[in-house]
Amino acid sequence: MTTNVLQMARDQLAIAVKYLDIDPGLHQVLNFPKRQITVHFPVVLDDGSIRVFEGYRVQHNSSRGPTKGGIRYHPDVDLDDTTALAMWMTWKCAVANIPYGGAKGSVKVDPKELSIRELEKMTRRFVTEINIILGERTDIPAPDIGTNGQVMAWIMDTFSMQQGYTVPGVVTGKPIELGGSEGRIEATGRGVVVSAEEAAKVINLNLAGARIVVQGFGNVGSIAARLIEEAGATVVAVSDALGGVYNPKGLPVSELCRRYSGRDGGVQEHKDAERVTNKEILELPCDVLIPAAISAQITGENAGKVKAKLVVEGANGPCTIEADHILSDRGVFVVPDIVANAGGVVVSYFEWVQDLQNFFWDENEVNRRLERIMKNSFATVESTMRAHKTDMRTAAYIIGVKRVADATKTRGIFP
Ligand code: GLU
Repeated sequence: MTTNVLQMARDQLAIAVKYLDIDPGLHQVLNFPKRQITVHFPVVLDDGSIRVFEGYRVQHNSSRGPTKGGIRYHPDVDLDDTTALAMWMTWKCAVANIPYGGAKGSVKVDPKELSIRELEKMTRRFVTEINIILGERTDIPAPDIGTNGQVMAWIMDTFSMQQGYTVPGVVTGKPIELGGSEGRIEATGRGVVVSAEEAAKVINLNLAGARIVVQGFGNVGSIAARLIEEAGATVVAVSDALGGVYNPKGLPVSELCRRYSGRDGGVQEHKDAERVTNKEILELPCDVLIPAAISAQITGENAGKVKAKLVVEGANGPCTIEADHILSDRGVFVVPDIVANAGGVVVSYFEWVQDLQNFFWDENEVNRRLERIMKNSFATVESTMRAHKTDMRTAAYIIGVKRVADATKTRGIFP
């Protein structure tokens, strides 16, 4: 990554701190992660050779509860990116008002290069290296880019084998049959669409018939595209890591999900559309842009060319601070990641609660509660935005940072 996302996360925090009466010492507490581990571990590949992988688990702040956050498998991750992602989890959980601090883990690897057997061995060994800081009461991973329910099942099994009993609550995003929650797979995309609907009301945009562009066609982007289409909008462009497709008349989203999401080959195999790059897709004519791929996609260089009236951040950190300023000056309404994509961790919280109680809810109940939390946090952030006459990201930070700072302060500094 060329943008320094940790600096970006710290600059975002500093903006919020200016609005709050936060002691400089407390600012420093929030500016640093509580704990970081870097591990190097060997895996015997299918051909008998040994490959050493590098991985990290970062816990940012646990004042409000156990730390929570996904595990990412991606060739470009490093300790700083993982730290930024852990910080964002802290604010995200605080804005949603769920009782967690933030964490993130990652392994520097392109999971597509590994066989299933290698992926399983790498996952089990990585969990073994970081298990000293994991636990259902301490730090609970979940899926992120490059990981899925199967990877979570291996994490749960590895941790449980080492404890000597099954610990479903140590990880969320598990398959349903292992204590996963109904609605977890769809949760992030569903939350993105609830946020888009709420934001559309604020800016008087009718989503029915609105043109939507989605960058990223993994778990978040593909489900958001499908659900926003169900809400009456027209998805005109989508992309995955290899590139995108654009058809101003609309794309057959369900077919694209069925054929391409999570598979090799990519959406560009779809014929009845113009091919676009991942850069071009951000500048297409549309009403709503959903960046749901990776960080630092909308920057000082291209923010002036974004045509959407509304940007709903499905990914973590897709807009840089320079982009935020430009979009805000141009009157583009941005629903920030820590609000828009919180649906995933909210249903992770529901999964954890169900696991701890051994009592499971049906999908309607999960979706109803998810929608309530998403709408409440959107409304709280929006009213804070109006009260402080600022943008929605700053307002979300004001709420999230204040909740974490208050918890840290009230608990006091040990000893
Ligand atoms: N990886 C997701 C995120 O960035 C979900 C984290 C979780 O469910 O713990 O929000």
